[in-house]
Amino acid sequence: MPFEDVHIQQKYAAVKAGFGGEQQLDYVFERYKFPMNYRVFHDLSLTSPTPFQIDTLLITPSYAIVFEVKNIAGELKVLVNPPQLQRTLGNGEVSGFKSPIIQVRNNCQLLKDWLREKNIDLPIYGAVVLAYSKQRIELLDTSIPFLFPEAVPLYVRNLPVTPELLEENVFEKLATELLASHQEFIPRPICEMFPYLANDFRSGVACPSCQKLTMERRLRNWRCLSCGKISEDAHKQAIRDWFLLYGGKMTNRECRKFLGITSPDIVYRLLKDMDLEVEGAKRNRTYVMKMGKSFRENK
Ligand SMILES: [Zn+2]
Repeated sequence: MPFEDVHIQQKYAAVKAGFGGEQQLDYVFERYKFPMNYRVFHDLSLTSPTPFQIDTLLITPSYAIVFEVKNIAGELKVLVNPPQLQRTLGNGEVSGFKSPIIQVRNNCQLLKDWLREKNIDLPIYGAVVLAYSKQRIELLDTSIPFLFPEAVPLYVRNLPVTPELLEENVFEKLATELLASHQEFIPRPICEMFPYLANDFRSGVACPSCQKLTMERRLRNWRCLSCGKISEDAHKQAIRDWFLLYGGKMTNRECRKFLGITSPDIVYRLLKDMDLEVEGAKRNRTYVMKMGKSFRENK
């Protein structure tokens, strides 16, 4: 969804990355088992006393790794001075985002502080994970590794083997504390964060190719009026966008208005096809996006 305001765009991209992108990395950790003693935590919210959030943390008795997951479509360029992530879309549109290198460095520092309060001193590594394996990226700052999800196990295994710094019971206690510190991350709807812009949100279904809100519903799919791209599921992104923008519950009527479809039956089927929580029946039926991912710990 295009916004005129750059801040909104950044916030929006950040919120959007909160679901979807991280799952790729979750799957890698679900499938891959390392030989050492370790734990993986997703969506950690900690306070050191500065509150911070870690997308994925892998911790062992010898070291910790902070992973920052990025899920931004388009061609990316990581700039150094000033540190910034520049994104170019297929249509040539360029926008800037916070540097993931700065984000990951900040998180490493804050985690170090958090551990020090518990008298724990561990080496902390940081890495940026790009959710899309097809992503094209140009790195002008290589101080932090950028990895695709499949490369993460090799990255972990190639780290220097160092002696265990934490006793078994200290490590277990730390893992329990990390688990207790975890809170569900439910992003505030963008219309609450930026109420003055709420009326400017544009409805419509974005073209996965040219990003314009010019997708038109046909019998079984969507077709872009600008570039001709056909998509079966372009509405899914639009529906997820609606929840990011407005939050709360969505009715069939609101969905119709947002997607630009007149038929309640078609919208009923599209909504039914998504993994949404359904409340009520018939005319009172509402849909809620499952935002806070449930906690998962891999051992
Ligand atoms: Zn298009």
